[in-house]
Amino acid sequence: MAEHFDLLIRNGTIVDGTGSARYEGDVGVTGARISRIGALGDCAADYAIDAAGLIVAPGFIDSHTHDDRMLLADGGMVPKVSQGVTTVVAGNCGISLAPMPVPVSRPVLPPLDLLDDSGEWYRYRSFADYIEALTDTPAAVNAAAYVGHTTLRAIVMDDLNRPATASEIAQMQDLVAEAMEAGAIGVSTGLAYPPAKAATTEEVIEVCRPIAGYDGIHATHMRDEGEATMASLDETFAIGRALKVQSLISHHKLAGAAAHGQSVATLRVIAEEMARQKVSLDCYPYTASSTILTLEHAENSGRTLVSWSRSRPDCAGRDLAEIMVELNCSLEDAVAQIQPAGAVYFRMDEDDVSRILAFDPTMIGSDGLPHDKFPHPRLWGTFPRVLGHYSRDRGLFSLETAVHKMTGLTAAEFGFIDRGVLREGAFADITVFDADLIRDRATFEQPTQRAEGISAVLVNGVPVWENNEPTGARPGRVLRRQASRAD
Ligand code: ZN
Repeated sequence: MAEHFDLLIRNGTIVDGTGSARYEGDVGVTGARISRIGALGDCAADYAIDAAGLIVAPGFIDSHTHDDRMLLADGGMVPKVSQGVTTVVAGNCGISLAPMPVPVSRPVLPPLDLLDDSGEWYRYRSFADYIEALTDTPAAVNAAAYVGHTTLRAIVMDDLNRPATASEIAQMQDLVAEAMEAGAIGVSTGLAYPPAKAATTEEVIEVCRPIAGYDGIHATHMRDEGEATMASLDETFAIGRALKVQSLISHHKLAGAAAHGQSVATLRVIAEEMARQKVSLDCYPYTASSTILTLEHAENSGRTLVSWSRSRPDCAGRDLAEIMVELNCSLEDAVAQIQPAGAVYFRMDEDDVSRILAFDPTMIGSDGLPHDKFPHPRLWGTFPRVLGHYSRDRGLFSLETAVHKMTGLTAAEFGFIDRGVLREGAFADITVFDADLIRDRATFEQPTQRAEGISAVLVNGVPVWENNEPTGARPGRVLRRQASRAD
């Protein structure tokens, strides 16, 4: 009798996520896992997907997100699933939705307001409560999360414009230990942001100390991503060295004209350091960044586009220069008048972005901001943009390499066992797409347009996206760090 599968993807071209060359084959799924790969022509299945002419790849892992709240509030995760993403890593840049043992101060302190400016979602008293909510009300995709250093500072400190005291550090260490015990994959820091700027390197080392015992990751939005990037790299390496933990440089970029071209040097230094300690990095495929609106950022940006404003919602989607004219005021006054707000800053150089993307160890992470009224298009376009624009159209790297950077590489860096690769026994997180058609359609002018070319997406063996629509299924699981990255 012919072998029987729950689900069978027939006639596809398999790009397995390891970086190896593509090959033709069928993929049989039983339960949540891939049970067979090969020529399975005679086999029967409860459900079949015809992938003739299409690529069958591991589901994409978004290594850098701010999806902490979207996972619970809008678990269909359409901005991600529509791109072929099957796993997201939340809690980045020092900001995590949990823990919040005391009610969050209101108005919510920027940049904590990037996750929820109402404060209503800062409702998880412990990190365990948050993980429990993710487990009990699963999203369409898998999720892993860091605990954020800035969130912890906001909890334990009365004045954020100074380094933490010994007793505050001790309190933060207890919260980190609780989070790691509950399943956090590490601590994220955002030393560039005002509420964390005053933290010293020593403070970060001490706060992160508990993660060493859990083999956690220190992910960092570095103190400086402009002219002083080299010094920030040194600080990042020093933290990893002191704790003997993996350091992850988040959204590596060179922002501001004075820093353009420095990626030649930063990548050389990163590569050298990788020979001495565990260092990882990720990048998004755009020359514009996005975060809260600050005068410092706006001053260093060729063009600034407002992505949201609580006091002036009508400003979302408009150029700050245009708002200045309308208000007949200085840049400083315009920034002040529309606060709290977020913005998109055009301040990177294409050569740096391409060079960083093409660097072998670079993973793809969107850094999408799902609650912005007029979001940076990276939220809806990152993965198809790498596959379409950078790999196919510009030939920056092969399709196999592009897929590896968003699947097998990422799973290995994070220690997500049996994810990120297509092989027998692995979880059936699978994305089927058309390599000729795939492209991002989200632009700075129309930032929420769905990408094109994603045919089907499976998470843990269950279709979550088919025929250009979400299926409504929510098979996502909470992922823990199961293994240290292999050296
Ligand atoms: Zn960041």
